[in-house]
Amino acid sequence: MKSLRETFRDMTPDEMREASREAEIAEWRESNRFCGRCGSEMQPHGDPGERALVCAKCGYTVYPRISPAVIVLVTKSDKVLLQRNTHYRGVVWSLVAGFVDPGESLEDAIRREVREEASIEVKDIRYFGSQTWPFPSNIMIGFRAEYAGGELKPDGEEVVESGWFDREHLPEIPRLGSIARAMLDAWVAEHKSQDIRLNG
Ligand SMILES: [Zn+2]
Repeated sequence: MKSLRETFRDMTPDEMREASREAEIAEWRESNRFCGRCGSEMQPHGDPGERALVCAKCGYTVYPRISPAVIVLVTKSDKVLLQRNTHYRGVVWSLVAGFVDPGESLEDAIRREVREEASIEVKDIRYFGSQTWPFPSNIMIGFRAEYAGGELKPDGEEVVESGWFDREHLPEIPRLGSIARAMLDAWVAEHKSQDIRLNG
């Protein structure tokens, strides 16, 4: 049987929602068998309508938790920032992404990740859309941003190579079904329609 990771990108949005919910709830139950406070066994909440696990001894209650991660498509006039990440197998170039730290707003997380991974500053942060990402319990929240200063430089640890690409010369990008690809496709389509307007 194929793993969720292999099949996820080929699913429709409805299938993704369903598969994510199942996988995330299963993972949540599995990793909360014992109370994180006192170590006793956790039990389902007395009210079946309440999706929670409760410690019979100390009453500690846990609900499923989703970890937010930001992903950002950074543009510099008509070019896009792409980078090659050590986490990816093969030569795939993608967008800046990372988990939101405790205490951060989504905008803070974007500015920090772009600064850490690419050594540049961004402005005009705008929401794009989001995608559930059950590996194990994340949500990817997509944004656009515009370059605001600094010299592009990969961090050398997570990111091994980075560059500004125009839409006619894109390297190998993430495959269909990922939010990164949807964001890149939207950016390419937007530039194409600008061309049509300019030429017509
Ligand atoms: Zn307890």
